[in-house]
Amino acid sequence: MTGKERERVSPKALARLFPRVKPYLGHLAIATVCLLAASAAGLAFPAIVAVLLDTAFQHGNSRLLNEIAIGLLLLFAVQASLNMVQVYLLTATSERVIAKLRTDLFGHLVHLSPGFFTDRRTGELTSRLGSDTSVLQTVLSTNLSEFTRQSIFLIGALVMLTIKQPALTGTTLAVAPLVVGAAFLFGRMLRRASTGVQDMIAEASGTADEAFAQIRMVQSFTAEKEESRKYDLHLFDVVRAAVARAKIRGVFFGALTFFGFSGVVVVLWEGGRLVLAGELTAGALVSFLLYAMYVAGAIASLASLFGAYQEATGAAQRIFELLDMTPTVVDPPNPIALPRPRRGAVSMEHVYFKYQEELPEALHDVSLQIDSGEILALVGPSGAGKTTIASLLPRFWDVTGGRITFDGIDVRDLSLRDLRESIGVVPQEPTLFSGTVRSNIAYAIAGTSESVSDDAIEAAGLAANAHEFIVRLPQGYDTPVGERGVKLSGGQRQRLAIARVFLKNPAFVILDEATSSLDSESERLVEEAMEELLRGRSTLIIAHRLSTVLRADRVVVLEHGRVVETGRHADLLDAEGTYAKLYRGQFRAGDRVALEQL
Ligand code: ADP
Repeated sequence: MTGKERERVSPKALARLFPRVKPYLGHLAIATVCLLAASAAGLAFPAIVAVLLDTAFQHGNSRLLNEIAIGLLLLFAVQASLNMVQVYLLTATSERVIAKLRTDLFGHLVHLSPGFFTDRRTGELTSRLGSDTSVLQTVLSTNLSEFTRQSIFLIGALVMLTIKQPALTGTTLAVAPLVVGAAFLFGRMLRRASTGVQDMIAEASGTADEAFAQIRMVQSFTAEKEESRKYDLHLFDVVRAAVARAKIRGVFFGALTFFGFSGVVVVLWEGGRLVLAGELTAGALVSFLLYAMYVAGAIASLASLFGAYQEATGAAQRIFELLDMTPTVVDPPNPIALPRPRRGAVSMEHVYFKYQEELPEALHDVSLQIDSGEILALVGPSGAGKTTIASLLPRFWDVTGGRITFDGIDVRDLSLRDLRESIGVVPQEPTLFSGTVRSNIAYAIAGTSESVSDDAIEAAGLAANAHEFIVRLPQGYDTPVGERGVKLSGGQRQRLAIARVFLKNPAFVILDEATSSLDSESERLVEEAMEELLRGRSTLIIAHRLSTVLRADRVVVLEHGRVVETGRHADLLDAEGTYAKLYRGQFRAGDRVALEQL
C-alpha cells in the first residue's frame, strides 16, 4: 500500500469495531454511569472548595470547615470506587473485543489463498495481529473513557463558569481556538508519523521472523551478523521514525501546556482584579480558577486524544483492509457433491497458468490424466512447472485457461472441503507443528469434526513405518516435537508426514519426493512406507528418483511449462529426448547402477 492510499483514512474504519462491541453494551452502560457519576463528583469539587475557603476566611466557622473537609473525603472515596468499577469494566471489555478482532483477523488470514502469503512476509502479518490491534485496545480501554470524562469536564466546567462569572468565561474561551487548532494540525502529523512507525515495526518483525524460521540456514552460512545487521537497519528506521514522532509529540504537548497555562494566567490576572475591586470572594476566585484549569486540561486532553484517535483510525484501517481481502480461490455458490467412494481420477485438460498477470506463463497447454489407482511421475528440470501442477490440483491457485477435473467434475465446481479432503500431500521437506507426535499425526483430520482414536493413530504410525521409532521416543506418541519438528530426523519427519496421509486416507496422493538423500536404512523405511501408501490410490509424484520413475504407470516430462514427452521409462529412454538427457544428468548415480542391473 502506498503512502497516498494511506492518506485517505476513513473514520468509518473505527466504526467497524462496533459490531464487536455490541455484545458488551450492558457492561459499557454500567461503565458509563460510573464514569458520569465520578465526573460529576469531580465537577462538584471546585464549588465545594469555594464554600470551604469562604467558610474559613470569612465566617471563621471551624466546625463547618471540618464537616466540609470530611464530606470532601467521602466524595472522593465514592469517586474512587466508581473509577475502579469503570476502569475494570472498560479494560475487561476492550480485551474481549480486541481478542475477538484478533480471532476474526487470524481466522480470515488463514483462509486467504497461498498467493497472498507469498506476496508478504508472515512476520508483518503477525505484527499487524499484535501491535495494530494493541493500538485499538488502548483506544477502547483508556482513550474512550478519557474522552468522555474530559468532555464532561469541559462542558460541565464551562456551564459552571458561565453561571458564576460570564465575563471571565469569555477570557477563558479566547485561548481555546489556539489549542484546538494546534491539536488538529499536530494530530494529522502524528497520525502520519505513527503509521510510519507501525509499518517499520512490521518490517523489523518480518526480518526477525524470517531469520528464526531459517535459523539453520543462517547459522550454516555463519550469517548471524548479517541477520543482526538487517534487523538493526530496520530498527534504525523504527527509531528514526519514532524519534521524528517524538519531536512532533514534544512540540504538540509543549504548545498545549503553554496555551493552557497562559489561559490560566489571564484568568488569574483578571480574577485578581475583580477580587481587588471587591466583586469576587477569594473562594469564588479559587473555584473559578479550578474550573478554568478543568477547561484547559480538558481541551489539552481532548486535543491529544485527537492524535490518539488518528493513530487508531490508521491501525483500524490497516486491520480492516486485511479483513476485506477476499481469497482468490473460493467455494462455488452451488458446489456439486463429490460422489463416494472417491475414485481419485484426475485430468488436466489444456491447462494454462500464470501466477500473476504480468508474469510469463508457468504452464502452457498442459494435458495429463491420472486414472483411478494410477501413478503418474512428473519429471523435468527445476522451474519446469512440476510444483505448479501439484498446487493446482488442490486449488491453491485456479487455472488461467483449460480445466482440471477430479472424478470427472471440474474442481471449481466442487466444494474446497470435498476436494481437499480427497487429496493427501506428502511435501518434500515435511514440517511439524509444535505439539506431540500424536497431535501431529491427528492433524490429518483437523479439518473435520471427526474424533480420532489412539488406535487409529497408532495404525497410521505402523503403516508409515514410524511406529517403531515413535515408541522409542521418551514419551512415545505423547513426546512433544519442537516447532517445525527440529528434534526429529528428516526420515522420521517424512514418515510422520506419511502417517498423516494414512490417517486421512484420501483417494489421491501428491508426493513431492525429497531430493536430499537419507541414510540407506532410513531411505528403505521411507520407500516401504510410500509403497504401502500408494497402494490402491491414484498418485502424482514429483519424482527425483529412478526407482519412483520405474514404478510409475506413466512419466510426464515437463520443460518450460509444457509437456514435452509422455510414456514409460524404457520408451522415453529409447526416444533419446529430454528425458534421456535428464536421466543421465539428474538421477542419482546409485540408482543408475541399480537400473543397469535390471
Ligand atoms: P518446478 O517445481 O518444476 O521446479 P515450479 O512449478 O516451482 O517448478 O515453477 C514453475 C515456474 O513458475 C518457475 O518459473 C517459477 O519461477 C514460477 N513460480 C513458481 N512459484 C511461483 C509463485 N508463487 N509466484 C510466481 N512465480 C512462481
